[in-house]
Amino acid sequence: MKATSVALKEKPVDGVPFFSLKDVNAAYGSRLSDAVQRVVETGWFIMGPELAAFEKEFAQYCGVAHCFGVGNGLEAIILLLKAYDIGQGDEVIVPSNTFIATWLAVTYCGATPVPVEPDQNTFNITADQIRDKLTSKTKAIIPVHLYGQTADMPAIMQLANEKGIVVIEDAAQAQGALCHKDKACALGHAAATSFYPTKNLGALGDGGAVLTNDAKIAEKVALLRNYGSTVKYQHQVIGGNSRLDEMQAAALRVKLTRLDQDNQSRRDIADVYTSSLKGIGDIVLPNVPDWSTPVWHQYVIRTTHRDALQERLKAANIGTMVHYPIPPHKQACYPEFANNSLPITEQMSTEMLSLPISPTQTVAQTDYVIDAIKKFYA
Ligand SMILES: *Cc1c(COP(=O)(O)O)cnc(C)c1O
Repeated sequence: MKATSVALKEKPVDGVPFFSLKDVNAAYGSRLSDAVQRVVETGWFIMGPELAAFEKEFAQYCGVAHCFGVGNGLEAIILLLKAYDIGQGDEVIVPSNTFIATWLAVTYCGATPVPVEPDQNTFNITADQIRDKLTSKTKAIIPVHLYGQTADMPAIMQLANEKGIVVIEDAAQAQGALCHKDKACALGHAAATSFYPTKNLGALGDGGAVLTNDAKIAEKVALLRNYGSTVKYQHQVIGGNSRLDEMQAAALRVKLTRLDQDNQSRRDIADVYTSSLKGIGDIVLPNVPDWSTPVWHQYVIRTTHRDALQERLKAANIGTMVHYPIPPHKQACYPEFANNSLPITEQMSTEMLSLPISPTQTVAQTDYVIDAIKKFYA
């Protein structure tokens, strides 16, 4: 929506929500409820034609041979670690600043997460920092394409292939993001993604997917997500139950048709933030390498006045968030990591602030956020 064409009809902006899922889904009109209704009428809710169609469409979108819709993003990572036989005694490289699911998947499989600090400008882990943490026990690397920008995957793949280590992308925040010309989910040996409702490609409930070009791994994941079975009542391995249901698949097929448009809307907002906030106070803006086309799951700035700025924005009815206020190694569930020294991550957790960004955010709303930030530093 261009502010100029609707300025007369719009009431003045008096606040900006951090993210309005209601608005995002309303943009699809009745298409989402029609899709759900269609499934209700067929009476086929699990492992049916909607899932098969979505898996084909999303695989094609990402440019990957195999896609499996699974229960959620956490289980997508777990299924891949299990498919690669990673467990007890194995080490897995993970970013120290990420949503905790990346770590939990590793721990859940009995393996040990080995945290790597991010590059402060891109927020992602790099091949150089990973190299220092490799041991004879390292079996996998899980780069997270944090905030919607991919890691420098060619460099990470070169290192991993040199050492014979598996690379599993955590693409939960990066559906549609490009690294050079390739899409997230097509950049490693395999990828896990999440369709949690607020992700760039979000379902109407929990959901996730596993993608890979490796036919052997694909076959294993197909078994592991469905009781170790691909033929009803024949069970070849000890499997679990982690399947994307028909209603979610039907809704995701609708949302996939608009993913590129929604991501472009996010990019337009990010461009305005970046050009307008340059040089304001001590703000450090997100850095985008020239090979990267991010999808801005979050727009994250850094400032040493973070808490005061967040308070001021809250007073102006502007929603912000911190991703993430407590790094995984400082969580109560990981006492064995409590004394790890990860100074970049710890400092970033006190300085980072995620600004409102959503496909339905108007130019007037973005301007309102920028004005409030400028007033804070004035
Ligand atoms: C959301 C998210 C996950 C987990 O996805 P769920 O579907 O909520 O289980 C994993 N990793 C990252 C980086 C995420 O943002």
